[in-house]
Order: sequence, then structure tokens, then C-alpha cells
Amino acid sequence: MSHGPAVKAMRAVTPRITSHTARDRRIASRLERWFALHKRALPWRASYDPYHVWISEVMLQQTRMEVVLSGYYGKFLQRFPTIDALAAASEDEVLAAWSGLGYYQRAAMLRSGAIDLRERFGSRMPSSVDDLRSITGIGRYTAGAISSIAFDHKVPIVDGNVGRIICRLDGVDSPLRSRETTAVTWLRSEALVSASSSARQFNQSMMELGALVCRPSNPDCDHCPVRRDCAAFATGRTAELPRKPPKSDVRHLRIRLFLVRDGRGRILLQKEMEGRLMRSMYHLPHGDAGLLPGCATDLDSERVIGSFRHTVTNRRITFEVCAARTGSMRDTPGEFAWIAARDLHSVPHPSYVKKALRLAGLV
Ligand code: SF4
Repeated sequence: MSHGPAVKAMRAVTPRITSHTARDRRIASRLERWFALHKRALPWRASYDPYHVWISEVMLQQTRMEVVLSGYYGKFLQRFPTIDALAAASEDEVLAAWSGLGYYQRAAMLRSGAIDLRERFGSRMPSSVDDLRSITGIGRYTAGAISSIAFDHKVPIVDGNVGRIICRLDGVDSPLRSRETTAVTWLRSEALVSASSSARQFNQSMMELGALVCRPSNPDCDHCPVRRDCAAFATGRTAELPRKPPKSDVRHLRIRLFLVRDGRGRILLQKEMEGRLMRSMYHLPHGDAGLLPGCATDLDSERVIGSFRHTVTNRRITFEVCAARTGSMRDTPGEFAWIAARDLHSVPHPSYVKKALRLAGLV
């Protein structure tokens, strides 16, 4: 297959390009046509309600589509069907509905954003990127996604999928997440969306292509609608691009968790009082043995019931779960709470706590 002139044109892409070309128009129209035929039926695509688009975009950041569709998205909207309902909820209620999705700061920020929308925008989602970016917790990507997908405004978006496709299409050689690549991919996304007939269809087609065809490894180039215009395909570099960012050091940790029960079978949980990431979440006490740190509770007995691995960014943690009983309760500070086993699901807790509770057959 010959790619001569097309490849030369593709290699000429520079960070300064902001207008679109015939190639950009061809890419955009091929992707839009492909999307019309192959798009998945996702719940927020039924109406493109701006609130639904917002919730879906935030949930899908750092969480896989299968997990979001397994019930979290539907249940969250059932519990908080409107911006007003979300703004009126307590942080504990929102975090409980988010339980199991991880990265809980996202849920706390959604609630803060809903309060902001109620106070400054009459509980309506604005359509412009500038207004959207002024809302607590909404950044450049989410603002672009809401503005283009819910309101069909021709604005760019760059997430992992879009960045990867642009790097491959244009043969971008700088590493992902570097300043240079970020600048290039946003400029190219802007040029491509401006060449499209619908930002809603085009931006989603990029996300969809990244999820279904132009995957991180083993892209399915044989079924790609823009193969003809792809520099990585033309030069045999689909496995090389995008270039990986330099690796950060991985830390290995071992932590002992205590599943402490009292005489009534209740479980001792500890609420995080400080720090932004896990604020308001309930954790299992952890420490060494005998006397729980921060809580003057003597353990009568303890036994290891199992262990599991858990990864948080660059930390690989082995949690060892210890079942323990306590008879003497000399003092239980405010951040500790005894929770009945049947109520464990309703208190917000991070996914590692859920794993430990599952290991013990409690949820
Ligand atoms: Fe991705 Fe292959 Fe399509 Fe290029 S041809 S955009 S590498 S799937």
C-alpha cells in the first residue's frame, strides 16, 4: 500500500496549527460516519441531558465503562436525579452513593459543583466552556465534554483516548502528558472539531474510537475509518506511539487492617477527619497489634483471616486483614464509630475497605 504524499503531509503537523485542512475535514467526516454506525447505546446518550453528561464524564474519569454501567451510574441518578437533589444532599450521602468507585474527591467535588450551580446558575448547567470552568471541580476536559456533548458547541476535548489517537494520527513523538504533547493535542483537537459537522458526534467518535478500535495496545487498524490518514499506521509505529511518560518509582507497602467486633457484633470504623482525598470516608483501623492507634481499645484476640493486594497510583499495598474482638472499651474518640454489620453498606468507605469486608463475608 502506498502512503507517500499523505504521510509527508502528516509529518508536517506542528504545534502552531489551529485551522483545519482538507485532511482534517476528511478525518472528521469519516469518524462521524463511523460513529453513527458503531456507537454504543449508553444511557446518557438517550437525551444528552447536561446533568447526566456531567455525571457520566466525572464517573468515567479513572473508572472503567463496565464498572460505571454495572449499576453505579443508574443508582447515583436515581438517588440524585437533579442538580438540586445533589446540592441538597450531605457529603456523607453523596460519598455513600459513590462507594466502590474510588477516587472519592470526585464525588465531593460533584456535590460542591452542584451547590455552585444552584447558587450562581439557578440550578441550570451553563453551555459555554468559560462558565463551566468557573464551577467548582470542573476542569478543562470536563467543561469541553459538557459543552460539546450536551450543547453541541465546537470546542475541543483531550482525554487519554483522544490524546492517544491524535499522537498516532499525527505521529507526535513527544511523551504523553508532557507540556509539548498537551499543547499539540489540544490544538489538534480544536482543529479537528472545527472541521466536523457536529461537535457532539465528533468528540464522542474520538472517545469511542479510542475505546473500541484505537486501543492502548493492539489497535484494530484493519477496522479503523481513519487508517488512510494515520501516520503511525503508515510508518509501522502503532506500538510505539504515543510515547510513554517516564515511569515514577513504585512503592510496596504492607498494612494490617483490623476488623474489630464488640460484644454486639458491631464493627469499629474510623472516619478520616483531615486530608482532602479521603475526607469523610470511613476506614478500618490499621496498625500493629494489641492497642489500636488513636483508640484506647484493647483487643482480646486477633487472627489473620486473609490478605489482598491493592494499587493506588504508584503504591502497591498488601493488606493483611485481622479479625479481632474487644471486651474492654475504655475510650472511643469521636472519629471512631461502631457500625452494625447490616448498615455497613450505607456508610461511605473506599474500595480497599470493601475488599476487606468482602474477604470477611460482611458485604
Ligand atoms: Fe489508531 Fe490504527 Fe486507526 Fe491509526 S490506523 S488511528 S493506530 S486504529
